[in-house]
Amino acid sequence: MNMDAGFLMDLIFPAECLVCGTRLARGTVCGECRLGIAPHRTAFCGTCGAPLPGFRNICHPDTPYIMGAAGDYRNETLRTLIHALKFGRIKGAAVPLADVLAHYFAQLPIDHRGFIVVPVPISKERMRERGFNQSALIAERFARFFGIPHEKDLLVRAVHRRPQSEVPDRDERHENVRGCYAIHPRAERRPGTDARKVVLIDDVTTSGATFAETAGILRSAGVRKIFALAVAKAV
Ligand SMILES: [Zn+2]
Ligand SMILES: [Zn+2]
Repeated sequence: MNMDAGFLMDLIFPAECLVCGTRLARGTVCGECRLGIAPHRTAFCGTCGAPLPGFRNICHPDTPYIMGAAGDYRNETLRTLIHALKFGRIKGAAVPLADVLAHYFAQLPIDHRGFIVVPVPISKERMRERGFNQSALIAERFARFFGIPHEKDLLVRAVHRRPQSEVPDRDERHENVRGCYAIHPRAERRPGTDARKVVLIDDVTTSGATFAETAGILRSAGVRKIFALAVAKAV
């Protein structure tokens, strides 16, 4: 849809907060619902999900990445926005989600210089169905916030399986994503993809299985430092 058509749509269907239905001049979520998000203040262990208050992984020090999650999936605003984006295909919902993630990451004691941003990819089948990769939309705005490069095609999802949210068992979730991801075959020849530091972005993490799998691929491609960030962490 072009800009004029978008403007016309706003006149015909004025924007409403996706969470509470309040009329909005623009955007997808009202200030009050946004304030209700209650962002996390710590990072988490990528293996067991325990908070890492001092930022040091004491419980599972061999985990090859640090996990971050801006908020809890039980939070109504986060959950509603993620649903609107993934299942309602409302692309505008990526904006407040990316903002929440960027503000969360900004308050962690991390020097973000030298990082590139890489979204967790979706399969061709899912792309056909949804029309876009929701994590790439979030990653794009996140990268712009920090002024760091967004490499949206660095990872690819070569194998299509059922969504992680439909796999109840933790071990099965690891099995369900095993071997599904790869570095893009052409990535090695592109400039800027020899990064040693990556911020990996996904919308939701539950068991951390997708992060473990994708971070493993990045590690074997020579990436040394990985922050795996999800907008919301489900337990
Ligand atoms: Zn609202
Ligand atoms: Zn742990």
